[in-house]
Formats: sequence, C-alpha cells, structure tokens
Amino acid sequence: MSECIFCKIIRGEIPSRKIYEDDEMFAFTDIDPAAPVHFLVIPKKHIPSLLELETEDIGLAGRLLHKAQELAKEPGAGGGCGQNGARFVINAKRDGGQTVDHLHIHVLGGRALGWPPG
Ligand code: AMP
Ligand code: ZN
Repeated sequence: MSECIFCKIIRGEIPSRKIYEDDEMFAFTDIDPAAPVHFLVIPKKHIPSLLELETEDIGLAGRLLHKAQELAKEPGAGGGCGQNGARFVINAKRDGGQTVDHLHIHVLGGRALGWPPG
C-alpha cells in the first residue's frame, strides 16, 4: 500500500473534506487554504508529478482539468468562480514548490490573486 498522503486520502485512511469523486479522480478542500476557495483535484492513479505524466495519462489529465473548472464554477464547494475567475496551479518538484508527491491541481479563488508568484 502506498504511504503517499494523497493515496491515503483517496482510500479514506486520512480524513478529508471531499468535494467530488469518481472512478479515476478525487477532489477535496486544501487543509491550509491560501484563498477563500482552495481545493485540490487529484487522479486516483499515483502519478508523482506533472513531470512524470505519460502518454497514456493524456486523456486523464484532460479530464482532471475539465473537472477542475467545472467544480470551480459550482456555487457550493467550488465557490462559484465562473464569473470572477480562479487560478489553476500545478506545482512540480522542488523548484515548482511541490510538497506532496502526487499530482494535484490547485484551484484557488474567491479573491484577486497576485502575479507573479514569489
Ligand atoms: P503542493 O505544495 O503543490 O505540493 O501542495 C500540496 C497541498 O496539499 C498544500 O496546499 C497543502 O496544504 C495540502 N495538503 C497537505 N496535506 C493535506 C491534507 N491532509 N488534506 C488536505 N490538503 C492537504
Ligand atoms: Zn499517491
């Protein structure tokens, strides 16, 4: 069994505030939100980072992105970001600021976000 914390969240071994789940992905609220809306969309397949995405994962990656924007527009957990917008972030490895080595899309919204990142 994977010791990865996001794999444990998927298996229900670590509690999370689930927003969405289907057979290939899982979405949940970030435990340390950086904005009023901050949730993560992850594949159930353990892909360590975007830099390890393989050709066979292309369809999955597209569906993750599609679900991320769909959830961002939902009035409930997604925060209804369809009008004002949101930011979709994928940190990859050390210089990208990745701290959990399981591919995830951050969805941030509910306030105007600065750019560029520090
Ligand atoms: P990153 O720095 O891009 O790897 O993002 C990892 C994110 O996972 C951070 O924003 C953390 O706050 C979040 N995180 C870590 N552990 C948990 C957890 N148990 N439940 C929800 N979010 C978590
Ligand atoms: Zn994992």
